Formats: sequence, C-alpha cells, structure tokens
Amino acid sequence: MTQQAVSLFTALAGRHAVVTGGGSGIGAAIATTLAAQGARVTVLGRRLEALQAVVAAHPGAMQAVAADITDAAQVDAAFAQARAQFGAIDILVNNAGQAHSAPFAKTDLALWQQMLDVNLTGTFVCTQAALGDMLTARWGRIVNVASTAGLVGYAYVAAYVAAKHGVIGLTKALALEVAKKGITVNAVCPGYTETEILRESIANVVAKTGRSEEDARAEFAKGNPQGRIVQPQEVADTVAWLCLPGSAAIHGQSIAVCGGEVMA
Ligand code: NAP
Repeated sequence: MTQQAVSLFTALAGRHAVVTGGGSGIGAAIATTLAAQGARVTVLGRRLEALQAVVAAHPGAMQAVAADITDAAQVDAAFAQARAQFGAIDILVNNAGQAHSAPFAKTDLALWQQMLDVNLTGTFVCTQAALGDMLTARWGRIVNVASTAGLVGYAYVAAYVAAKHGVIGLTKALALEVAKKGITVNAVCPGYTETEILRESIANVVAKTGRSEEDARAEFAKGNPQGRIVQPQEVADTVAWLCLPGSAAIHGQSIAVCGGEVMA
C-alpha cells in the first residue's frame, strides 16, 4: 500500500463528522466516505431505521441520532446526544433536503414554507448547533449540499430554487465571518443525482405527462453535457475532499458536481 493510500484512510482520524440526511442517497454516501477516511460519523435524520441501516455497516465508526432539522429543540438535543458518544463536532455536512415541485401559480404558502424550512432554515439551525465546537477548537469544516438549483433557475421548482440560492448566500456570508477561525464553509452543488429525490421527480413527470420512465430519465440526463445522471459517490468524494486538512484554502465556494451543466 502506498503512503498516499495509507494517509487517505486516516486523513480524518480523530474528527467527528455530523451528516444530516445520512440515512439515504447522497448523505449515506458522504457518511460512508468520511468514515472510510477515519472520521467518527453521526448520521442524522427523521427515520431512525434508515439511519441504523447505514450505521450497521460501520460498527463503532458511526452512530445514528433522530431529529427533524426544522425543529431547533430537536436538533439541539440530537447534537448533544451525538457529542456524548463521539465528542465535539469538527465537521458538519448539511445534506438533508427535500425537493417538491409545482408550477409557480400552484405553489401555495405551505409548499413554499416547507422548502425554505427544510433546505434553508434546517441548514441554519444545524450550523448554529455545531459552530460553537468548531470556534472553540479553532478548526472546522462546514459543507452545505446545495444544488445546481442554488446557482441557476429551473422551472416548476421556484420554492426549492429560492431555498437553495439561500443556502449559497448563507455559505458565503458565514465564510466571511469565520475566515480567520480555522473553519471553512463551502457548498457542493450536485446536478441530477441517482437518489430517491430523482426517482420521485421522474415518477412525477411520468404521472403528469404520460411519458415513459425511460423518456423522463433521458430528459433529466439531457441537461448534463456528459449526457448522464450524477452518482451519489461523486458528490460524496467532493464533500470528503473539502473536509481534508489540505483543503483549508477552499473557502466560501460553491462547487458544481454536474458534468458541466453549470459552469462558473
Ligand atoms: P434523499 O435520499 O431523499 O435524501 C434526503 C435526506 O434528507 C433523507 O435521508 C431524509 O431523511 C433527510 N431529511 C429530509 N427532510 C428532513 C428533515 N426535516 N429533518 C431531517 N432530515 C430530513 O435525497 P438526496 O438526493 O440524497 O438528497 C440529499 C441532498 O442533495 C438534498 O439536500 C438535495 O436537495 C440535494 N440534491 C439532490 C439532487 C438529486 O438529484 N438527487 C440534486 C441536487 C441536490 P428522513 O426522511 O429520514 O428525515
């Protein structure tokens, strides 16, 4: 085994990472990748069974805590539970999110509020719960899983697009505040990625247009110049890279993982 390979397995040794939405999709891939680099990982979400299924594959290196990220009291209690087992939080990956679609005229206040609550306020609440530990340690990594919908507009998802643009604004503002404190804050912006969120979107198109599933899937892949859907591991590898000690100068950035669909 090369020296480089050995160091990758231990690059995050001694670090405690919290991954919200770690029970499925992109979050599960991120949690697994951080654990493979030596971190102790807390996965957080509402469905404890889903979280426990991810933890079961990594005994000792991971734990599950249940919380709804839109509820600050639940988040505070969950982060206290996470610290009790794995210590102060060094890395926070704000990955939990929901993407519900509707034409703007049919976007009611409840849908608007739900998208803002989960995607934007949830990121704010979890960051508030973790930042104190990082300020004390004078080391930290915050990675917000936004979306290409945080960088450009898409039709029929106005609430989601507005919330994800907000996540990128929050990323930039906090990055300036903590720039001299040893903490980096960045966003990762996936394009369409092979997870439950995408499967639901495809099912939605099939139900509303009568197109075949294959056609609907091809439509989602078409926007990506590589002509394909992104895989969760590709997003996880980008998040893990941002968490490495050597990524200290990458700060306040929004990194698109989308095969070139969006270019800076
Ligand atoms: P996913 O498998 O549905 O994951 C979403 C996760 O968020 C679930 O594990 C869910 O767990 C958790 N979650 C949702 N609401 C929550 C709440 N109120 N409190 C706590 N946890 C909550 O979909 P995914 O694609 O991996 O999504 C992960 C992130 O990537 C999201 O932020 C999404 O916006 C972003 N993203 C996805 C794509 C894509 O095409 N898939 C593209 C761009 C960005 P529980 O249900 O157990 O709470």
